[in-house]
Amino acid sequence: MAKHVVILGAGYGGIQAALETRRGLTADAAKITIVNREPFHQLITELHQPAAGRLQEKNITIPLDKLLSGKRIGVCLGEVASIQLDKRTVALADGSELKYDILVVALGSESEYFGIEGLKENSFVLKSVHDATRIRSHIEDCIERYKVTEDPADLTFAVGGAGLTGIELIGELADMIPIFCKKHGVDPKNVKLLSVEAMPTILPGFPESLTDRAKASLSARGVEFLTGVPLVKMEPDQATLKDGRIIQTHTMIWTGGVRGHSVVQNSGLEVEPRGRARINDSLQAEGHPEVFVIGDSALLLNKETGRPYPPTAQLAGQMGIHCGQQIYSLLKGGELEPFTPHTQGTLASLGRKDAIGMVGERRLEVTGKPAAWLKEGSKLRYLTQIGGLFARA
Ligand code: NAD
Repeated sequence: MAKHVVILGAGYGGIQAALETRRGLTADAAKITIVNREPFHQLITELHQPAAGRLQEKNITIPLDKLLSGKRIGVCLGEVASIQLDKRTVALADGSELKYDILVVALGSESEYFGIEGLKENSFVLKSVHDATRIRSHIEDCIERYKVTEDPADLTFAVGGAGLTGIELIGELADMIPIFCKKHGVDPKNVKLLSVEAMPTILPGFPESLTDRAKASLSARGVEFLTGVPLVKMEPDQATLKDGRIIQTHTMIWTGGVRGHSVVQNSGLEVEPRGRARINDSLQAEGHPEVFVIGDSALLLNKETGRPYPPTAQLAGQMGIHCGQQIYSLLKGGELEPFTPHTQGTLASLGRKDAIGMVGERRLEVTGKPAAWLKEGSKLRYLTQIGGLFARA
């Protein structure tokens, strides 16, 4: 009888895991079901663009029915509520249940608030196209309201955390906010665009040459950097920094870090303090060979440094492909193989026309248009790989 492979999450890891599992197993050998809250796959590495109004949401989503058409992969729309490891079932928020033989957990991450007072209630996050829509319409509302209130807080936009998410977003905002201002008859000179970062420098893990380049590019477009000072409190109309500084603003977009998904944390799987599941070399959860955990919810350690790999889309995709291969090995009685990540590099856009990055194993530095083209190229390569180039909405 066909085994049931249930994949939770249709993100970068889940989609690749589904496609690869199906590549290796016929429908007689395995029924594959992918569970997702939304009826589409989101290119979450591109969320900064709709958040700042450059692209529409439909440009960065791919309907699952189109993407998976003819691939014999079932889609179950619903929100995963919990996993029952003992019964090998997954409960959905609507009360229904799915029984699995093999489970792939690819639910991504959630925002980490580090217990900062008022932050969750009074900030925006950028984790989905819905978040992007919310941010864009809030920014337009603030600009429109300023025409009436002339309150500087309405034109002060803060991004908390200057990692890749925060920097890519602020680069895009620096380009797009002046366009919104023009549309609403507001002088863009009155806009304050703040990047608040706890560490002394932006973009942890990037060499100084590139962080300096990023700062220069963004400063030239009006971004102000408040580095070396953590945000410690957030209220509806003001942010408090550790040195006592107060920023009057109605807009804090929090990009200060991520943690494993709460479903993983509450599943009974072994997790570390940031909520990520401990996995073995073949990506199986500790003590549960029938459960694979991939992407941002898994703790993947770099054997050389002993530190976790940063949770990137690139890594999630590679884990998804490897996981699919392990599943068909497992079901065909073959040997499981350890996962080895291949670093292709990291590219960060700094708005519409600029980018920085490190390419290849040797981390060759690239800047400006070539870096922006490489970033666009990597998106197109990904879309081609999953068969999503012409499947967009
Ligand atoms: P991150 O953890 O990489 O960066 C968060 C930043 O917030 C850090 O610099 C941290 O010092 C800062 N911070 C934390 N607490 C703070 C506080 N109280 N006040 C001010 N600053 C504070 O998080 P991210 O940028 O969301 O990225 C998450 C993961 O996704 C990373 O692994 C990243 O590499 C990956 N990512 C990759 C890309 C890309 O490849 N282009 C884009 C986005 C995200």
